[in-house]
Amino acid sequence: MLRKSLLTAIAALVISACTTSPTGRSQFIFMPDNQVDQMGLQAFSSMKSKNPLSQNPRYNQFAQCVTYSLTREVGGQWEVVVFEDESLNAFALPGNKIGVHSGLINLVDNQDQLAAVIGHEIGHVLSRHSNERLSQETAVSTGLSMVQAVTQPQTALGQTALGLLGVGAEYGVILPYSRIHETEADTIGLDLMARAGFEPRQSINLWLKMDKAAQGGQPIEFMSTHPSHASRIDNLNQRMNQALQLRQQALNMGKQPRCAK
Ligand SMILES: [Zn+2]
Repeated sequence: MLRKSLLTAIAALVISACTTSPTGRSQFIFMPDNQVDQMGLQAFSSMKSKNPLSQNPRYNQFAQCVTYSLTREVGGQWEVVVFEDESLNAFALPGNKIGVHSGLINLVDNQDQLAAVIGHEIGHVLSRHSNERLSQETAVSTGLSMVQAVTQPQTALGQTALGLLGVGAEYGVILPYSRIHETEADTIGLDLMARAGFEPRQSINLWLKMDKAAQGGQPIEFMSTHPSHASRIDNLNQRMNQALQLRQQALNMGKQPRCAK
């Protein structure tokens, strides 16, 4: 009897394991989304309690304004928090939580460049990349204990879990996203910023600026967890005409974000 229910459970897992990402790519995903979301919420709340938050009202309003303009396009409840940290970093966690470092806000020239970063991060969440990484790199049994482990970042399993969620850098575990995930997040982010009425060409300027800052020796976690590829700008350029059309449609619909730093 036990065996039969186990088989049923495994069959259900296998059936639910094959899904499709927003760009139409096949994914192998077996972790229940609500548990992965729970991990994201847990990690985010512990980060908020352990790290200083920015007290700069302009930076907070700027990040809120850009995030609101973007997430309005995809729906759902999202939270963005600005951390007081000079490294150039941003991240998003399952459960619709976004973190931006004050150093990154300091770096960007305008709302469109911030929208490029946050749009990219939202792209990781919408594509369920955390779940995909957890599913690829853990067995079903380990996967479920990962949910618990996220509350214990000092343990090896806890650190792996946080690394797979995409926030391991905070704990010294850097697990770079794969090129496939990066390109997918770029594609979704570009599309999203354009649909929200931001200027998509600024995404190129943002990555060039990041590269330049990295060469100048500024601490850039984002570059270590998000490997820089020469192909990134090529990919964005290939999609730029389509993005510019989406932006024009957005402007025609009166979508014109005005977020000031
Ligand atoms: Zn990324």
